[in-house]
Amino acid sequence: MRTPSNVECKYFHGDYYRGRNIETCMLIGTQPPPHHWTPDLCISCPVPGILRANACEHMILSGKVKRGLLFWRRHVVIEAYCNKSNQKVDKPHIGCGLCHPLPFDIK
Ligand code: SF4
Repeated sequence: MRTPSNVECKYFHGDYYRGRNIETCMLIGTQPPPHHWTPDLCISCPVPGILRANACEHMILSGKVKRGLLFWRRHVVIEAYCNKSNQKVDKPHIGCGLCHPLPFDIK
């Protein structure tokens, strides 16, 4: 489904049926303030880009809302884990490298 910032994200759900206007992020879920989800977070969220770059079925994403130091602006922070290699994925856009080993080290 398309987010309010007009990018496709499988974690976004909008219910607009019969005048409803309920939007949720199923990755972040319901968290107490100030770590709650709001639609403006989609603008800078890295998840749609990760999903476009890496469609690995073994990679599990988890997300949190954090405040940055500059102006206390909130943003989404992502962690990725591979169920196949059983390790944290440092570069979710690329993957852990087990299924598709790289011939050189990408920095
Ligand atoms: S915050 Fe990120 S993961 Fe959640 S709906 Fe928006 S783009 Fe998708």
